[in-house]
Amino acid sequence: MTIVDRFTLESLFKSPGYAQQCTSVFGATRTHPFGEGRYIHAISILSGLSKPRLEAVAAHEFAHAWLNENLAPSRKAALAREALEGFCELIAYDLMQERSYEVEKSSIKENPYTAGQLHAFVAAESLNGFNAVLDWVKAGEAAKLDADDPDGVRAVREAELAKTSAASDSGGLPVYYSHVASARCQTS
Ligand SMILES: [Zn+2]
Repeated sequence: MTIVDRFTLESLFKSPGYAQQCTSVFGATRTHPFGEGRYIHAISILSGLSKPRLEAVAAHEFAHAWLNENLAPSRKAALAREALEGFCELIAYDLMQERSYEVEKSSIKENPYTAGQLHAFVAAESLNGFNAVLDWVKAGEAAKLDADDPDGVRAVREAELAKTSAASDSGGLPVYYSHVASARCQTS
């Protein structure tokens, strides 16, 4: 993880490898698969952020790193970009909630860049729990969540889920369950 200035961060937008990655005003994540289930994640975070924002951005970028390691390529391709960002924002939002950082919570909620997906994720989580959200991200039937149908998160391909659970037993998201966090990415 590197703390960078704005010029460096913005120049990441322009490098071709980032087209499929998270590049935001505050942070960027790039994952290099190394073979045999090993990865190197290169995370850049803007310098000079307030403590709450730094924590939110870090959590968001860590969520991207986790997704890059744990989603099957077919699911990654099927998942809508806004849903991917919505999930990462949910991780950030939950951490801000845990820390009682109200200003940062509002800022995440008001940011339009997940096109409503964050709200759909928050609704799904409050009704069905975080593990249901995680299962959906890995093996959901839809490409995005519907804010008006928080139970849609339960439409999961069981066979695919069994496969991904076995594969990610060693990885998983253990520390995330109650304390999770976020950053803001723009789609370019
Ligand atoms: Zn992002």
